[in-house]
Amino acid sequence: MPIAQAPPYQLFTLATNVWTAPYWEAASRGELVAARCATCDHPRMPPTPFCPRCHHQGIRWVRLSGLGTVYSYTVVERAIMPGMEAHLPYVPAVIEPDDLPGVRLVSNLVGMDLADLRVGLPVRLTWHRTDAGVGLTQFRLR
Ligand SMILES: [Zn+2]
Repeated sequence: MPIAQAPPYQLFTLATNVWTAPYWEAASRGELVAARCATCDHPRMPPTPFCPRCHHQGIRWVRLSGLGTVYSYTVVERAIMPGMEAHLPYVPAVIEPDDLPGVRLVSNLVGMDLADLRVGLPVRLTWHRTDAGVGLTQFRLR
């Protein structure tokens, strides 16, 4: 079976805001972080202006280990725009971090045989750094 490739990152543009900028700043240093409410500690990923539990705005950022499990995934096998062909197949995935259960991180699976893909697989973070210096998460089989 084919191996999951890195997606065509050059086709995507990063957009940040005041709530997500700390995530991307940490990612540029190779650190995976997640937001938690500074008042009640409820996880807030993606970071939101208000805590969904207590409605306070304070956020504290915690560093994650980079270990997780595959919660969901899909296989992209067809190019929907020019420039994607060399990156097929790629595998967008939703990862649940081991150290923050219930939180879901949208990322990609790479370097894995498509025949081995399963929900629940244990995975480990690796970083992809774009030409612009942006750190993007990728996950590989542990
Ligand atoms: Zn809260």
